Amino acid sequence: MQHLIKAFASRTAFQRPFAMSTTSTDVIVVGAGIAGLIAAYNLTRAGKSVHVIEARNRIGGRAWSDDSLGFPVELGCMAIHGYVEGNPVRQYSSALGLNTKLLPNARGTLLTADGPLDKAVAGRLSSNLSAAMARLSSIASDSDALPKETSVADVLLAPSSPLYEGLLEEDRAMATSLARSLEIGWGISLEATSAYYAGWASGIAFAGSDGVVVGGYGKFAEALKTAAEQTGKGTFTLSAPVEKISQRDDGVHVLSQNGSTYHAQTALSTIPLGALKTLPGDFFEPSLPTRRQKAISRTSVGALEKLCLSYDSLWWDPDAGPFNLLTENAVILAIPLSTDPATLHVLLPHSALNLSGEDVHAMLAKAIAPGQTVPKPKKIFGSNWKTDPLAYGATSSPTMVGQDRTPLDFAEAARPVWNGLLGFAGEATEMNHRGSVPGAILSGQREAERILNLLNRRTDG
Ligand SMILES: Cc1cc2nc3c(=O)[nH]c(=O)nc-3n(C[C@H](O)[C@H](O)[C@H](O)COP(=O)(O)OP(=O)(O)OC[C@H]3O[C@@H](n4cnc5c(N)ncnc54)[C@H](O)[C@@H]3O)c2cc1C
Repeated sequence: MQHLIKAFASRTAFQRPFAMSTTSTDVIVVGAGIAGLIAAYNLTRAGKSVHVIEARNRIGGRAWSDDSLGFPVELGCMAIHGYVEGNPVRQYSSALGLNTKLLPNARGTLLTADGPLDKAVAGRLSSNLSAAMARLSSIASDSDALPKETSVADVLLAPSSPLYEGLLEEDRAMATSLARSLEIGWGISLEATSAYYAGWASGIAFAGSDGVVVGGYGKFAEALKTAAEQTGKGTFTLSAPVEKISQRDDGVHVLSQNGSTYHAQTALSTIPLGALKTLPGDFFEPSLPTRRQKAISRTSVGALEKLCLSYDSLWWDPDAGPFNLLTENAVILAIPLSTDPATLHVLLPHSALNLSGEDVHAMLAKAIAPGQTVPKPKKIFGSNWKTDPLAYGATSSPTMVGQDRTPLDFAEAARPVWNGLLGFAGEATEMNHRGSVPGAILSGQREAERILNLLNRRTDG
């Protein structure tokens, strides 16, 4: 019996008795996150037939809006960073008939565990952090003077850092805590982040003002899918995890767990870095080049979770948010989303993932409204990207400390294989915009253009 089980388990996916070829298209896109949807949108509009195969029972990937409270709660991406600085989400939204809006530049309130921080101290801490960041970027841009093993913590938290300039001894720990607010976006600790490459892409990345898609990023994903379908060239299969992608004489074959094999001239994988790291060695056949495999293992995926706390009544000053709660190891950011129902949208960084929703509520209540009785949340829900096998983390992190690690690993991740027949897109393949929606968009655009050239060259030839 044992040998029979083994023999069955060792069958390659393409030897399955019930595997059947169902569709043949110009392009197969694996993954219906923003990168895959943008590629499908652009390719179908250029007249190519595209089949998008998605593992989840929904599209959007890490763009995931929960509408159960009657307004969008973003469990993945939320902000259009660089709203007036050229973020491509705005251009696509307008082409898709969606509205976007600029968010007010609210400074928010810094909180300690026991209540709001004195305004003068809070101002000093914030300006010290800006000065320390400026010093880090000037050291990093002259990085030949910096040993490669230097971490951001080595520079930013050094005793001589501008971070601590003019502070009383008892305020220094809060300055260190505030510096950890950088970890919210990076997903890893200051100690793990390379100072040599710190801010490497910051002159190029979309930053400055923030906006949102009205109705949420889920609507953005839906509109891209609808537009691709309306061309008559785009089809979608959901709930179909891909388990093998192979090069064959007639193009590319993609096998899904639903037992179907799909065929196309070319394919595009948008499988996120965290999931790529765990794929079996024979997922791609022929397997990925060694240099690519090394780049995948050198790059890391950071953690960030979203938590939503919804209440029967409002208990905070609606003009005071967002709230930045400084704890010993982390900054917990709570953004008021709505006053009716009163709702807080909380960003939990990597070092606060052990906290439950009730813990976070209790900490925020004590810090925002010390000494007062506040209502308990009537609804608590959130994300779990870290353990989600289709993501295994929030986004690719900045380059970590380590001799062989460089931002070029993200460029390596973007390179097509099999003479261009299999391409790669997704936020972790955009060296200058990794970890963001614009990164996903630009990667999808880049690959749509490359595939279009490839297919057109074949037709012309
Ligand atoms: C908590 C959080 C907050 C964020 N905040 C912001 C923000 O404010 N602004 C911003 O610009 N960015 C933000 N981001 C980043 C942004 O969400 C991502 O960069 C972007 O959505 C990634 O898109 P993608 O297409 O590369 O990947 P994904 O969205 O992950 O899409 C990949 C798709 O592939 C599917 N897939 C995986 N494996 C398989 C398989 N074997 N077979 C078939 N399908 C498969 C997945 O299910 C998924 O749908 C945030 C991310 C997180 C997690």
